[in-house]
Formats: sequence, structure tokens, C-alpha cells
Amino acid sequence: MHTLVLNRNFYAIHLVDWKKAVMLLYTDRASVIDEEYRAYDFTGWRELSRTMRKHPSGFVHTPTFRIAVPEVIALKYYDKLPPMRIKFTRRNVYEHYRYRCCYCGKKFSTQELNLDHVIPRSRGGKSNWENVVTACIRCNSRKANMLPEEAGMRLKITPSQPRWRGPTTLLLRPGVKVKASWQKFVDLVYWDGELERE
Ligand SMILES: [Zn+2]
Repeated sequence: MHTLVLNRNFYAIHLVDWKKAVMLLYTDRASVIDEEYRAYDFTGWRELSRTMRKHPSGFVHTPTFRIAVPEVIALKYYDKLPPMRIKFTRRNVYEHYRYRCCYCGKKFSTQELNLDHVIPRSRGGKSNWENVVTACIRCNSRKANMLPEEAGMRLKITPSQPRWRGPTTLLLRPGVKVKASWQKFVDLVYWDGELERE
């Protein structure tokens, strides 16, 4: 179960599991934000939880009290946006190219894709967003240890560095169930967030 994390300016920046959310609240590093934008510290939220009959995300029970699982929290001290750089990982490369082979442009399953160094490592090609692309097994073996032009191939998809696209990136991750209470915070960024410049 996920909790949406806002920075101090109410920008959605992160998702955490409920344990982490309760910990941030308990240690006074975050407040719970309700749908009227009211903020609650740990004590305030615990009191409010006592009066709740139901809560969409349920409750955490301790021997002495129960507390509603926060759905949205805001960090008290963090006012930045997440780093603009997206980590260079196999999964992120696959997702960046939407599981397409950058040589033939066709879509494949994870098992049918490989990572390919456009300039081979043996020729000094680096392992970074500008030089590593997804390739299907067929294109990958055809290209082997050559440059694309040596193998008579052309990239259909140009290698590029992905950019942070705001909370949509968070919410589209597999296994994330979007909660109704998140909507207005995500919409806020949708309308007020700075548009990506090409
Ligand atoms: Zn291919």
C-alpha cells in the first residue's frame, strides 16, 4: 500500500509504503494532508483517527491506539523537486524505449530484449543513456561487435536521456493503485507544473 509524498510546496514527488509514511509522521518530518489541505501532525492525526469509523486505506493498530494509514503526507523541510536524472538501470532503459528494439522499432517482451552498446564497449563505448539502447535478440546478434553502419543497420529510435515527467511517472509504475485522495495533488502539478521544454 502506497502513500503519496508531497514536498513542502505540495508538489507530488514520491511514493512510500505505509510504514515509512507513519515513521515520517511519527518523527515529525511530515504531516498528513487531508482533502481540504489541512495538515495534521502525529498527535492530531492520532486523535482524528479515533473518531473515524472507516478509512479507505485502513488502520494500523498498536497495543494502545490505532491510527489511520495516511494517504497523502507532506514533508516539512523538503521543498525541492526530485532529481531530474532518472537512474540508469536496465528496467528504466526498457521502459524509456517502451520495450521497443531501437534498431527495428518493434515491441518485445522483456525476455526478448537485450541492452546494446551502440558503440561497442571494446571500442571505448560508454555505458550511459547516450550509448545504450534496447535491442531484440535478432538485431543484437546481427550487430554483434560492430558499429551500426558496419553492420548495415540504422537506429530507428535515437538514443536519448529520459526526463522526469512529474508524478505521472510515479503513478504509472506497475503495482501502484492510485487512490482517489491523490487526485487533486496530481492535478495540481498537472496544471501548475512547469512544462517540459524540448
Ligand atoms: Zn530488433
